[in-house]
Amino acid sequence: MNNKFAIRILVLDDEPFMLKLLCRMLENSGFSSVSTCDNGRAALELLDRTNCHPDLILLDINMPEMDGVEFVRHLVEHHYSGALILVSGEDERVLQSVEKLVRAHKISVLGYLTKPVIPARLAELIDKWMPPAQVAIEAAKRIYSAEELGEAMVSGELVNYYQPKVDVATGEVVGVETLVRWRHPSDGMVYPDKFITLAEEHGLIDELTRVVLSGALNQSRTWRDAGMPLRVAVNVSMDNLVSLNFLNNVVELTSKAGVPPQEVVLEVTESRLMTDLRVPLEILTRLHLKRFRLSIDDFGTGNSSLTQLRNIPFVELKIDQSFVHGAWANDTQRAMFNASHGLATQLKMESVAEGVEDRADWDFVRHQGCDLAQGYFIARPMPAEDLPAWLVDWKRRCPELVLQ
Ligand code: C2E
Ligand code: CA
Ligand code: CA
Repeated sequence: MNNKFAIRILVLDDEPFMLKLLCRMLENSGFSSVSTCDNGRAALELLDRTNCHPDLILLDINMPEMDGVEFVRHLVEHHYSGALILVSGEDERVLQSVEKLVRAHKISVLGYLTKPVIPARLAELIDKWMPPAQVAIEAAKRIYSAEELGEAMVSGELVNYYQPKVDVATGEVVGVETLVRWRHPSDGMVYPDKFITLAEEHGLIDELTRVVLSGALNQSRTWRDAGMPLRVAVNVSMDNLVSLNFLNNVVELTSKAGVPPQEVVLEVTESRLMTDLRVPLEILTRLHLKRFRLSIDDFGTGNSSLTQLRNIPFVELKIDQSFVHGAWANDTQRAMFNASHGLATQLKMESVAEGVEDRADWDFVRHQGCDLAQGYFIARPMPAEDLPAWLVDWKRRCPELVLQ
């Protein structure tokens, strides 16, 4: 559908006043095909009857009889392929968890609206609407086979990008995190969320980590020789930690590159539940004894559990970006941020705030006394050759950012 204003919208809310208000807002914004229902059952009957599903439903999650969550379950049974906008007077936390729940059902959620609804916010959400076919195309574009990935590694299509980590108090650049990218010959830049799991599931992750690590170590050597002694961090998958060969590879590659192990950071996320932790524990403990720096990544997201801290000698804790960006304005995020940061301090670990996207985030992490920061506000991940120019620019920006 080329004309966005022709999309079919259903508004479902038990309050007659809200129904009228939302309809008026939609009509004022130019949407001509708007229908309404004041309860879930009626809405489902409408879906059955017309066989012509709406493209978008504005759904009130608090309704007597059938509530919004139950309605979503029925939508799944009805193979609803349109999108949803959630509406509620509840606090944002409830809306956020309902949004997650709906996404888990693979229904596209454009976002949520808190009451009283602001017309500009409604327009902003509807703006994100895409025809289902386009959503499907966007998703399908990005599915790759293990063979393709394997060949890409052999032909050198994986490239390392580097994102600076800076000292929050002084602005000093202490190191970089290596983030892998796939420079695909026809699809352009492909991001790791499209191929890391694939590599893990098809036995390619050891080779992938080896390629990334050796590239990062060589780069570190080059920077060192040029008078830029940057610590380099590499992401390690739990699936790398199942064989002692990994330990030997890391030690050997590092020594061959002539980089001191204390300048190498290994960032570990627990991507799935491990039943037998004995081998990972042995590998990590021995890497620690050999002076590699171990970092616990995505802390607080459920993947990285607290118990790991007790058993593994981590020296760095990365506070997940979901607790950082916008935390200055959100109580829940701020509580999670402070709890993670407090834990790092008590355990004498270095804390790193990820996802520092703007000046407000930067001021917040400075104010909280976090050690290091990383994020778009400081720099986006970049190819190694762009780093010197970024450094010059960072030195120019820095004095003002670390004033009081
Ligand atoms: P991560 O380790 O948590 O890396 C941080 C991710 O956040 C990166 O995404 C980075 O580009 C992005 N990021 C950085 N600053 C900001 C910001 O201010 N705001 C927002 N919204 N995002 C920011 P990327 O490069 O797409 O990597 C995604 C994930 O893929 C990484 O999450 C890491 O878990 C994994 N990954 C990346 N490279 C490798 C690798 O070589 N090996 C393994 N095993 N995993 C990797
Ligand atoms: Ca990481
Ligand atoms: Ca992370």
